[in-house]
Amino acid sequence: MQNLSDINQIKSLLSRHGFSFSKALGQNFIIDADVCPDMADAAVPNNSYGVIEIGPGIGVLTVELAKRAKKVISVELDTRLLPILDETLSDYDNVKIINSDVMKLNLHKVIEEEFAGMPVVVCANLPYYITSPIIMMLLESKLPIESVTVMVQAEAADRLCAPVGTRDAGAVTVAVNFYADAEELFFVPREAFMPSPKVDSKVMRLKVRETASFDIKNEKAFFSMVKGAFSMRRKTIMNSIPAGINTSKEKLESVLSELEISKTARIEQLTMDNLIEIYNRLT
Ligand code: SAM
Repeated sequence: MQNLSDINQIKSLLSRHGFSFSKALGQNFIIDADVCPDMADAAVPNNSYGVIEIGPGIGVLTVELAKRAKKVISVELDTRLLPILDETLSDYDNVKIINSDVMKLNLHKVIEEEFAGMPVVVCANLPYYITSPIIMMLLESKLPIESVTVMVQAEAADRLCAPVGTRDAGAVTVAVNFYADAEELFFVPREAFMPSPKVDSKVMRLKVRETASFDIKNEKAFFSMVKGAFSMRRKTIMNSIPAGINTSKEKLESVLSELEISKTARIEQLTMDNLIEIYNRLT
């Protein structure tokens, strides 16, 4: 069995397979021996659980998840990693790799087919180029999952935890507040990766709430409004809110006046209650 945290063994494994890192796919693999066991401990409550992993890389976190869970389904986009994973995971018969873009995969179907009767969690060292879309997809698709334990760049972690209504907040912050309770678990320095990225990372755990905390008529339409408005965060809400929701300027103006919210505010200044009230009154 290989030691996937030993830099020389990793280098020899990668060179035997002629593998070169893809920056476009956010490939920074963990080489610090403590990080993956700690992450897997935080993600998997006990060995009755099913785990969805996104982006196994060479399998360093996958192995730790497989030791703690009943079954692990790992979704990897890069076909070049498949023969490497065949080798590194050969001792674990409770792991299955799905070669797919996680954003295009029907995770409801995967959970139904692979995890019958098991509680399910998600754990991943996320590819940085697509952190927020993956987290939003996991939360918005209302998967039957208990938690999402992810390593993300420090700045993205701050965004996830930021209060809605502050400059650090984004559409993903609204999604996290809407569906989950976020906690920051631990810091991971850039030197823990190969190749080493320009920034440090943090491991976060999002505990998905079983019942909704907010009363919304249509969540999909609400998040369309939120995403549209945050995509124009520098503009006033009179201009940014209509980007994602079908409304007239007159209607929006009267709703803002009813709620005593300034027309010149920016979306990042609105609280969770403001956003929900505006949406419910516009529709
Ligand atoms: N888990 C490994 C580790 O911690 O060392 C690798 C993490 S690396 C930051 C991100 C991984 O996600 C890479 O293996 C990359 O190929 C994969 N990946 C990138 N985009 C993906 C996508 N859209 N769907 C599934 N996997 C993806």
